[in-house]
Amino acid sequence: MPAQTSRMLFGHPRAALQVGIPRGIDEFCERTQEWLGSATEILFGRTVLGAYAPFIAPESLEPLIRYVRGSPWQRDSPSAGLPIRRFGHAPILRACPACVAEQTDRMQNSTWLRIHQLPGVYLCPFHGRPLLSVRNAVQRQAMREWRLPHHLNAQDWNGTAPIESAVDELRRLSAWSMELAIDQPASLRYFDPNRVAQLCRDRLGVARPVARRRTDWRPIAVAFIDRFGTLATVPGLEFIASAERADGGFIGRSLGSGIDLRYPERLFALLCFAFGAPKDFIDSYA
Ligand SMILES: [Zn+2]
Repeated sequence: MPAQTSRMLFGHPRAALQVGIPRGIDEFCERTQEWLGSATEILFGRTVLGAYAPFIAPESLEPLIRYVRGSPWQRDSPSAGLPIRRFGHAPILRACPACVAEQTDRMQNSTWLRIHQLPGVYLCPFHGRPLLSVRNAVQRQAMREWRLPHHLNAQDWNGTAPIESAVDELRRLSAWSMELAIDQPASLRYFDPNRVAQLCRDRLGVARPVARRRTDWRPIAVAFIDRFGTLATVPGLEFIASAERADGGFIGRSLGSGIDLRYPERLFALLCFAFGAPKDFIDSYA
């Protein structure tokens, strides 16, 4: 049944069962007669692309958009740019229990809301409650069988709800994704990774690493862990604990050899630490 529906919508049995950004958007628009919007409206307004786009150079974004609009049957990848499969880790499906209850009450159904799937969003923007994430094995099955949030049982979700003191930091982290994401290509702002790293180093008062000389990231990493350490138990944010390593983990890498834009959540954690609020960062970048 899911394969059949996917075939009807995308002309491909699995295209619709993607978390993130499905391929075959042009075919989908043709089959739905753009009832849900044009290809770019769908890509930026209904997939997570808008949250990644500000970190992809415009000359790479264009081939990427062509790639996801093209047929899922074609095995080609864009000659330039970032192939979709290289987008960070596999996204984890998330949902807010209060949203699911409201949707189920209203329409006897529920959906995976896009805003809950944006990288870095771990708190429901409508209810302020921590989102629940789906267990890995269940997610694979949920996609194959097209299961919706209200179809899942209590044991299908990851149980670790963040402790109360972490909720404020989760809220700040969530704000980054929602503030920086764009909903149409016309509003694209591109943040160059080298410049972002330099701004972070300036803010945190560290010098640019000199070749062959070891930078001591410890003082920064300790301050970071002090503030964000409790978030490392949240599924999807495990990378936070890496800052405790002698080389400063993801902080040492981001500020040293460079920011890896495939992982916006790491970038948001770093920006949140260095700047506090998205507006501070945007003003500094301008
Ligand atoms: Zn909610």
